[in-house]
Amino acid sequence: MLAYTYSDKNTFTFSDKPKPTIIDPDDAVVRVTMSSICSSDLHIKHGTVPRAIPGITIGHEMVGIVESVGSQVSKVKSGDRVTVNVETFCGDCFFCKRGFVNNCTDKNGGWALGCRIDGGQTDFVRVPYADNGLNKIPDNVSDEQALFVGDVLATGFWATRISEITEEDTVLIIGAGPTGICTLLCTMLKNPAKIIVCEKNRDRISFIRNHYPDVSVCEPENCKDYILNNSAHGGADVVIEAAGGNDTFRLAWECARPNAIVTIVALYEEDQMLPLPKMYGKNLTFKTGGVDGCDCDEILSLIANGKIDTTPLITHRFSLTDIEKAYQIFENRLDGVIKIAITND
Ligand SMILES: [Zn+2]
Ligand SMILES: [Zn+2]
Repeated sequence: MLAYTYSDKNTFTFSDKPKPTIIDPDDAVVRVTMSSICSSDLHIKHGTVPRAIPGITIGHEMVGIVESVGSQVSKVKSGDRVTVNVETFCGDCFFCKRGFVNNCTDKNGGWALGCRIDGGQTDFVRVPYADNGLNKIPDNVSDEQALFVGDVLATGFWATRISEITEEDTVLIIGAGPTGICTLLCTMLKNPAKIIVCEKNRDRISFIRNHYPDVSVCEPENCKDYILNNSAHGGADVVIEAAGGNDTFRLAWECARPNAIVTIVALYEEDQMLPLPKMYGKNLTFKTGGVDGCDCDEILSLIANGKIDTTPLITHRFSLTDIEKAYQIFENRLDGVIKIAITND
């Protein structure tokens, strides 16, 4: 089968690989029907994910149909339509039992698919711990509606959950890329008093204005002033940084009010500075890291009930054989791209 592969730094190429089979009794093999490209795939390409193993098939955002399951799998069966979770987790270790599945201590725990084991930009994928990593898609939810559940939408949901948002809060979301928009959709479910999105890209600003007219938009240059003028206590009550730009980390803590929660979802390609003397007395709480992707059933039911719709994010569609073109558009942010659906045909 055709598999889009991380061959070396800066190079992804097609390779021909055998169809995966069940190795462990808790594995499933899923026939991929649709996948997407994530900025983390680009981080692998740029060589900033040292744990990524050359030769692996890229892709950790996908939906499909269960082809076969191992003897220990009980939640899904062959023929089920499923979302695939970006994270592999055993469900049984110290971290999994506390919901911190990103830090699962299993050898494949955390982000393994499309990084340390073969992922989903291909026709079939083997998913370890299938009872945890697969979630059944309700009949009234399409592949496109479910496409982002296992990764970028799970990330937005998690970021919103750990940010402890209340209905009195002014929430600042930095970045209106795919993660920022997914975070916005989940933040809207919490009904905070005000949501402000900071973004510099014209297309993305228009996207937010067109789709979410109740949300305020500002640009990085005037973000600090805008927040000061639009919040009651000298800054945002909650800041979620989903941009990962050169100066967006600084912007995040500068725009937070004293005692705010600052949640860092962005995956930076460079080290960031935490200038503690400058923020002394501001008493901020920082929450950082990668998604604990264990809310996918809840997210799927929110989609089924019309509470979350990520389909407007799909601005482009390509078949797997044309994935190089899709990467070119996504990597260079051409043509107003937000997310791309890759179909297997
Ligand atoms: Zn991702
Ligand atoms: Zn675990």
